Amino acid sequence: MELIDIGVNLAHRRFDADRAQVLARARAAGVTRLVITGTSVAASQAAAALARERPGELWSTAGIHPHDARHASAEALAQLRTLAGAPEVKAIGECGLDFDRNFSPPADQERAFEAQLELAAEVGLPVFLHERSAHERFLAILRNARPRLRGAVVHCFTGSAAERDAYLALDLHLGITGWINDDRRGLGVRQVVQGVPAERLMIETDAPFLTPHDARPRPAGGRNEPALLPLVLAAVARAVGRPAAQVAEETTRAARAFFGL
Ligand SMILES: [Zn+2]
Repeated sequence: MELIDIGVNLAHRRFDADRAQVLARARAAGVTRLVITGTSVAASQAAAALARERPGELWSTAGIHPHDARHASAEALAQLRTLAGAPEVKAIGECGLDFDRNFSPPADQERAFEAQLELAAEVGLPVFLHERSAHERFLAILRNARPRLRGAVVHCFTGSAAERDAYLALDLHLGITGWINDDRRGLGVRQVVQGVPAERLMIETDAPFLTPHDARPRPAGGRNEPALLPLVLAAVARAVGRPAAQVAEETTRAARAFFGL
């Protein structure tokens, strides 16, 4: 079994002390390829530097998270454009809208989101998207840009059946995290994921965040890591009613095609 973690924050400081061991455990668990999420210019540069050390195993994205959108200056976008030219950078993002916490003002978020969609269209890379409590505006902006985009994945999808259908109608991919492993709050995703075509479905840990609740033993400090991706796979397989080996093959094929790995 070979799995691809399409969203892991491997440059996060919580991996500084033991990053090599984290990657060794991932490989031992069958997680052989990882796409490291960039969430700011600095984080995207760090992600690309990590990816460069292990060609064929690690890749990265380059983007500015909606939380950080107030820092998406013309200069920051120019730096993303430079990063986008690097062979290890396989998508623009994480970008999108998050009106749940509004760490950046909504107007700044929309501006940064549109600029990154424009950049992705120009450089011919797919986009790695984040949406929280902003579905309507997110969809409107995305619909406008979609014809020019090579591909788009809504990462950590936890939305409703109607939101799923709206995204699928735009020919998007959906990324499923360990949110689905949660007995209580994962119920909705377990139902909604059943209606996602296999070729539109990918899996991710979003580590060090979103530790699957069924991880045993509980990881130290509650930190998630890519070696726990098989738990997400198992939960998705149970939800869609297909064998885990089959879902592994489907999600890996979808991820290779989407990112061009
Ligand atoms: Zn996100």
